[in-house]
Amino acid sequence: MTDVTSLADLSLLPVPEAGDATARTQAESGDAVGEQRNRAVEAILSAVQGGESILLVAHVDPDGDSLGSAIALGLALRTLGSRASVSFDSDPFVVPRSLTFLPGQDLLVPPALVPATPDLVVTLDAGSLGRLGALGRVATRARRMVVIDHHASNTRFGDINVIDADAASTSVMITDVIDALGVELDHDLAVAIYTGLVTDTGSFRYAATTPVVHQLAARLLATGIRHDLITRTVWDTHRFGYLRLLGELLGRARLEPEHDLVWTWCAFPDLTRAGLTLDEIEGVIDIVRATAEAEVAVVCKQGADEVWRVSVRSKGAVDVGAVCTELGGGGHRFAAGLTSSNPLEQTLDSLRDALVRAPRLPV
Ligand code: 5GP
Ligand code: MN
Repeated sequence: MTDVTSLADLSLLPVPEAGDATARTQAESGDAVGEQRNRAVEAILSAVQGGESILLVAHVDPDGDSLGSAIALGLALRTLGSRASVSFDSDPFVVPRSLTFLPGQDLLVPPALVPATPDLVVTLDAGSLGRLGALGRVATRARRMVVIDHHASNTRFGDINVIDADAASTSVMITDVIDALGVELDHDLAVAIYTGLVTDTGSFRYAATTPVVHQLAARLLATGIRHDLITRTVWDTHRFGYLRLLGELLGRARLEPEHDLVWTWCAFPDLTRAGLTLDEIEGVIDIVRATAEAEVAVVCKQGADEVWRVSVRSKGAVDVGAVCTELGGGGHRFAAGLTSSNPLEQTLDSLRDALVRAPRLPV
C-alpha cells in the first residue's frame, strides 16, 4: 500500500531542470504539436473562406472541457462568418445540467440533424473515434477530419491530429487555435474556455496546472467572467436527491488493501430512484479518490443501456490511462475511464487483474 505523502516529503520531489532530457523531448514534441496546429488552422480557415459546412464534435456525454472547447471554437468561427454547428452523441440529446450556463447553445444541433457529409469535422477532447459515438460515422464521411485533443492515448484517427498530452485541457489548445485564427477573446469565449480549464484541472489542483494554465486563467478573468459562478455551477451545485444518493454510494464503498483499491458503484435503478441523471454523479469519484489508504479509486456508473461507465483515478504510482486503454477505454495517466457491457463483478475483475499487472511508477 502507498504511504501517505507528508507535506515535508513534497519539498523533496525532483524539479526537472531546463535543458535536461525530459525538457528537450517536450520542446521537440511541442514543435510537432505547433506544426499540426498550423495545418489545422489552415484547414479551418480554408473551410471558412470557402463557405464549407463545418461540424464540431464533442465526445459522448460531454464534459466541460469537450463541450466548452467545441462551443468556444464554434463561437470563434461564427465571428469569422462561418455557420459551424456543434454536436455530440448523448441519449437524450441534452446539455448536462451543470453546463447549461454555457453560451452559444444555439450552435447545438442533434446528431440526427447534422450534415450527412460535412466538408470539415473538428473533434474536441475525444481520444478515439469510438468516443464520438454515432457521430463517428459522420466524421469518417467528412472530406477532412481534424482531431484536437490532449489524451496521451489518442489513436490519431483524423487527417490532421493536434495532440498535446502536456496540455491541461483541450480548451487550452483551442485558445491557441483561436489566437491563430485572429479572433479576439471576448467574454463568451472566455466562459467556454474557462469551463474546460476548471473542469480538467479540478479547479487548478491537478499536476497539469502549470504557469501557462494560470496565465491563461488570468487572461480569461480579465474579460470580466464570473469565475466564481462558473466554478460553483460546475462543481458545487446539486439537486437534493444527490445528497441522499451520495450517502448511499459512499456507504457501500469497498476498500481492498490487497489491490490498493477503493471503489463503489451506482446501478441504474439507484440513479432513477434518486431522480438523477448520469452527468449529475460525475463528481462522486472526486470524493472516493480522497481515500488515503488506496492508490487507485474507481466508480462504476450504469446507464439506461445497462452499460457501465467506469471512472478510474490514481495518485501517481499507477498509469491508469494505460490500464484503461488495455481494457478498451482510455484517458490520461492519472484520470481515465472505460465502458463495459459485462456485469459489474466481471468488469471489476478485469480491472483488478490489469491493475495487478500494471508497473508501479516512481512517485
Ligand atoms: P471520467 O472518469 O471523468 O469520465 O473520464 C476520465 C478520463 O478518461 C477523461 O479524459 C475521459 O475522456 C476518459 N475516458 C472515460 N471513459 C472513457 C472510455 O470509455 N474510453 C476512452 N477512450 N476514454 C475514456
Ligand atoms: Mn479534456
